[in-house]
Amino acid sequence: MNIFETIDKTEHEEVVFCHNKDVGLKAIVAIHNTVLGPALGGLRMWPYATEQEALNDVLRLSRGMTYKASVSGLNLGGGKSIIIGDPKQDKSEELFRAFGRFIDSLGGRYITAEDVGIDVNDMEYVFQETEYVVGVHQVHGGSGDPSPFTALGTYQSIKASLEKKYGNQNVGDYAYAVQGVGHVGIELVKLLHADGAKIFVTDINQEAVQECVDKYGCEAVGLDDIYQVDADVYSPCALGATVNDETIEQFKFDVVCGSANNQLAETRHGDELEKRGIVYAPDYAVNAGGLMNVSIELQGYNKDRATRMTRNIYYNIKRIFDIADRDGIATWKAADRMGEERIQKIGKVKLPYMGQRRVNFSGRSKNGGS
Ligand code: NAD
Repeated sequence: MNIFETIDKTEHEEVVFCHNKDVGLKAIVAIHNTVLGPALGGLRMWPYATEQEALNDVLRLSRGMTYKASVSGLNLGGGKSIIIGDPKQDKSEELFRAFGRFIDSLGGRYITAEDVGIDVNDMEYVFQETEYVVGVHQVHGGSGDPSPFTALGTYQSIKASLEKKYGNQNVGDYAYAVQGVGHVGIELVKLLHADGAKIFVTDINQEAVQECVDKYGCEAVGLDDIYQVDADVYSPCALGATVNDETIEQFKFDVVCGSANNQLAETRHGDELEKRGIVYAPDYAVNAGGLMNVSIELQGYNKDRATRMTRNIYYNIKRIFDIADRDGIATWKAADRMGEERIQKIGKVKLPYMGQRRVNFSGRSKNGGS
């Protein structure tokens, strides 16, 4: 494995290999870009078949976080970490505490959080060794379940997409095909239902589907039938790569907008949607509500602020559509461009020497104080 060549291609700032033989820790922290702020991204635990596979995954995921934070207007960079191991049998207090100490040694350049294979109890151990963690338990000032925020962001993105397609963002005037009614999907169904929308749902979990039928008047459809229902909006909230050669041919939709990660099997499928006049709201900008929510923990968690910030996703998506129009490109590409432009512009905001801040102004008030 030629590590420097690999890192060079992906333009990472720093990649840290963490090893503690005594506790069985093999972890990689990838810091992609910190121009906008500290790199924030989750910790994933996975039984990777090879070290190369683990490295590729953490590099890919951390790069994605840079773009996500940037298009979301956050003052955060992109990073991610992985632990090589089986989450079902390799977890221990000492493993996560050792990992926490490595994170602490990075001095805040990287802030970790939960991701696949990790739960809030694992984060408790990490938190014992470092402050640089978000998504901690609510008893420690954590932000709790991000799914309602991710759903709210998806709902706002749907509005922006309807506006783009029809010049009318009245959600209740349209029909929706929601694939996956788990944590995010069910919250989205509630929001759509409150607006009086017609909703089709599908899920491998039949209980979840039944709840949508009974409580929110949804129509249940088969797993493979969701791609061809007569709806205006397709909202993938389950898995990735569901916009592909096979499914696009079945679409009667005008809009694709959901919370799932990596919805396009390949970027050319984003171009294909564009060609067919189907508005695609780029997934990583749509589903940033969870990241926004957790980022508020860094200033002291406040639900109202998280809600306000998440509502702004509407404007982020509109800006992406504007860039797509400005440059004559597909929306998936416009999202990347918006992310890169912000990093370039903010990177130029270099202050001249500002002196040493020896005076503590924190006790003063602009109104004269007390
Ligand atoms: P979840 O696991 O709670 O829900 C996913 C649902 O999809 C489950 O009910 C599952 O049964 C269903 N499903 C699985 N395979 C399916 C299939 N073939 N057809 C139909 N349904 C299927 O996950 P979630 O937290 O609701 O997240 C949904 C998506 O949004 C995921 O892709 C996730 O990566 C993404 N996402 C979630 C968040 C968040 O805050 N939870 C944030 C960003 C992105």
